[in-house]
Amino acid sequence: MQSEWVDRDAEAVVDRYAGIARDLALRVYTTRLLGQNPKLVLHGGGNTSVKLRSVDLNGDEIDVLCVKGSGWDMGTIEPVGLPAVRLDPLRKLRAREALSDEAMVRVQRANLIDPSAPNPSVETLLHAFLPHKFVDHTHSTAVLSLTDQPGGEGLCEEVYGDCMGYVPYIMPGFALAKAAAETFERDPAVEGLILHKHGIFTFGADAREAYERMIAAVTLAEERLKRGRKVMFASTQLPQQIANSADIAPIIRGACALKDEKIEGAWKRSILDFSMNGAILNFVNGAEIARYSQAGVVTPDHTIRTKNWPLIVPAPEAGKLDAFKEGVRNAVTDFISKYQTYFESNNARVGGTKKPLDPMPRVVLVPGVGLFGLGRSKKEARVAADLAEAAIETITDAEATGSYQALDDASLFDMEYWSLEQAKLGSAAEKPLAGQIVAVTGAAGAIGFATAAAFATAGAEVALLDVKESAALEKAKTMGGAALGLQCDVTDVASVNTAFKKVVETFGGVDIVVSNAGAAWQGRIGEVDEAVLRESFELNFYGHQRVAQAAVKIMLEQATGGCLLFNVSKQAVNPGPNFGPYGLPKAATLLLVRQYALDYGAEGIRANAVNADRIRSGLLNDDFIAERARARGVSEKDYMSGNLLGREVTAEDVAQAFLSQALALKTTADVTTVDGGNIAAALR
Ligand SMILES: [Zn+2]
Repeated sequence: MQSEWVDRDAEAVVDRYAGIARDLALRVYTTRLLGQNPKLVLHGGGNTSVKLRSVDLNGDEIDVLCVKGSGWDMGTIEPVGLPAVRLDPLRKLRAREALSDEAMVRVQRANLIDPSAPNPSVETLLHAFLPHKFVDHTHSTAVLSLTDQPGGEGLCEEVYGDCMGYVPYIMPGFALAKAAAETFERDPAVEGLILHKHGIFTFGADAREAYERMIAAVTLAEERLKRGRKVMFASTQLPQQIANSADIAPIIRGACALKDEKIEGAWKRSILDFSMNGAILNFVNGAEIARYSQAGVVTPDHTIRTKNWPLIVPAPEAGKLDAFKEGVRNAVTDFISKYQTYFESNNARVGGTKKPLDPMPRVVLVPGVGLFGLGRSKKEARVAADLAEAAIETITDAEATGSYQALDDASLFDMEYWSLEQAKLGSAAEKPLAGQIVAVTGAAGAIGFATAAAFATAGAEVALLDVKESAALEKAKTMGGAALGLQCDVTDVASVNTAFKKVVETFGGVDIVVSNAGAAWQGRIGEVDEAVLRESFELNFYGHQRVAQAAVKIMLEQATGGCLLFNVSKQAVNPGPNFGPYGLPKAATLLLVRQYALDYGAEGIRANAVNADRIRSGLLNDDFIAERARARGVSEKDYMSGNLLGREVTAEDVAQAFLSQALALKTTADVTTVDGGNIAAALR
């Protein structure tokens, strides 16, 4: 591993943060260097610190420890992500025999210089008890490959000799901080500490020294792992034709959904993130996967994001997905019962004080295909997949040079159920559509985009489908997060199927579809060209049918119900003169909604429609509004609010109607009117 330190870059960071101490700016610089290397830390793992002279709020000069705050990612850290804590009160704690986690957190918070700063890292005391100015901590995959073996301590001593101190596994917190300090004091010449089955600390008098000692130590581990390797892993026999990730994702997603026992029809679903490369395939195809993949996490910090073991499912044979489905369901049932046994026995050990977390897997290994990370959002799923990929590297290297051995179940349980770890996951109430995937057609238009935005605000992952690819991509970009923009021409069945395949590849399935794409054709029905009528039917009827059909296929694979939402127009119930070419297919679509509700109600798939009128959009643009208003001799404002309530109806109003239909789990075959009131268009 190469040092990425560049003097010019370091000075640029110092210049950028001209108002803060030079050492704190350099602390930010090397923290980012460490954090941006996935072989060292991932997604909020690891931590760093620097000890400084600073002034408190009274202006008195004091010693402080600036240490990574909880919730900050090292790769993107800012100075405020390294809150300053008074150093002396932290060091005084060392005299104690024991200190509860709650007391530790209280003392740390009480000594923050800025009372609104984030909680200092759970490893703060370890940083405080060491005398060095700069302290760096990572969960290097290469170092873990050495420590996570039977006899890992001996292997590390062979690699590092007297250069490092060795700390046996102790859960993070006060006891580990004390043990680390004692190890250091036995030989103050050491440049760092190896924490058995956890990670590595290095320290130095300046930012560069601590950082480059980390790089040097990791390089030694990498070099050791290159020597005397066995070829891993011998592959199992796989089916000739393997199914692809898009075929199997909805099956896995459905099997890993948890039925809500309190609300009938509700599910706790996950978003999926798929990863595949040579190293992953080599790992998941191994004949002994059931041994080495189930041994436990590579560092306890991963437990809350990946659970202690991944789920292994059978290799999926193309064309035989029914057998795969059954295999997955059985594997999930076994996984849950294994998790429950693990919980019950360990909970009894700690006096029955813990409440079980949900028993569903966070990582799924699929021989022949790759791995899936699961989470309540795309971001969480990505984190699980990335950690699983790093674990594969660690385990593969451990097995190639010896054999992989993780911590025992009891230690992993203590970490998984540690209140300070669970606090990292946050306690904010979940949004109503967390874990759900929504596809919206015509999403670059006014109603489509407002609807996509409303569903994203409600916590769903959103795919924006539009016939104009650049518009779909641009709208997805403005929405931010994981929003996906896709080209989709609903008049072309291949285009619809391709778009839905991409939605599945990105998120793992689909739960809600808003079939919104449409356009208006006019013509007096007795004289209109048949081609015009057919063209309108292609978009305003068959378009909805193609989209609904593609979605239902995925929903049936998931077997967790679903929701089809259609934009029908008031034309479907209250035709306007010369608007037959638009109204007729829309009327057929209204019946289509009812047919879906009827045919798929038993599978929990709901079908509802919104009947909206007079919304500013691509169909009803400013020029057209001005023309219609002039034709009726009213102002534009009066034209737009010409309804019983006298209020203009907006795209956001339509979006909220779709959202409420998506959330109403006992409502199907419904048509919600959003038009400000129009008795002639009221449903009978
Ligand atoms: Zn750590």
